Amino acid sequence: MIILDGKKSSQSVKDELILQVKQLKEEGRRVPHLAAILVGNNGASETYVASKVKNCSEIGFRSSLIRFDVDVSEDELLEAIIKLNNDDAIDGILVQLPLPKHISEQKVIETISPKKDVDGFHPINAGKLVQGMPTFIPATPYGMMLMFEYFNIETKGKNAVVIGRSNIVGRPMSILLSGNHQFGNCTVTICHSHTKNLEAICSNADILVSAIGNPGMIKANMIKQGAVVIDVGITRVEDATALKGFRIKGDVDFDDVATKASAITPVPGGVGLMTIAGLLKNTMQAYLNK
Ligand code: NAD
Repeated sequence: MIILDGKKSSQSVKDELILQVKQLKEEGRRVPHLAAILVGNNGASETYVASKVKNCSEIGFRSSLIRFDVDVSEDELLEAIIKLNNDDAIDGILVQLPLPKHISEQKVIETISPKKDVDGFHPINAGKLVQGMPTFIPATPYGMMLMFEYFNIETKGKNAVVIGRSNIVGRPMSILLSGNHQFGNCTVTICHSHTKNLEAICSNADILVSAIGNPGMIKANMIKQGAVVIDVGITRVEDATALKGFRIKGDVDFDDVATKASAITPVPGGVGLMTIAGLLKNTMQAYLNK
């Protein structure tokens, strides 16, 4: 059984980007610039954005963090996005989700220029993904594909099961795995909260991707012997013995499932790190597209 160590695979992506940045600097060109917008001070969102900004600086990208109070109006937020759309010095824009209830996430997503949409959430980019056109692939599915590439995971002809149908993880991942390209060509089943016989469906998966957000739900009895198991889930579970008062848990009961899987991602240290790698690659792409 191998552990699909996101530290190794994400470092490999970052090393490649570091070289590209070095070359840009040698040529006297500016470096890619990511703008991140954070509304409010949700603990998990703060952590994610801080990590994205830190990773930008580690590889030599510029980044700007634009913060708004939780009660910022939708108009004010949309105006800030339009300003960034029109700023030639900005290559990529991300708005950390979730947003407060009075702001329409859909409006926000559709206001970001598709050319700077490094999260790949804009309907134009989602449509291109469906049609197999070059686009910004949402960072988490992109990160998983980069992980398959790094660990050379055979996908052609395999049965893949994706649990979760969100626009940011499950659905794009199901499209990528079924696509006619390297690390695609799977026969894909997509499962969700109304799926019946989840256990039986999962037991037939050569590749299982879980993006639910229900800690420890995936047990060994749902796993085919030798399956590749990718755990996207990230849930903060209260734990008084932990320094921060919580621990990060994935959807997969790691110790149980590891007895049957041929390869498995840890949480933390798996897909989360690859999501950032995917975002950084998209930012470089947005820069190069100019
Ligand atoms: P979401 O809430 O939008 O989607 C969850 C999906 O799980 C839904 O499609 C729902 O139908 C399905 N689901 C819920 N209960 C189920 C059940 N009992 N059986 C089968 N399906 C069920 O969430 P999301 O944004 O797609 O995120 C999913 C998880 O992945 C969360 O834990 C989130 O924190 C995590 N996440 C991790 C990363 C990362 O970088 N690792 C990135 C994004 C999201």
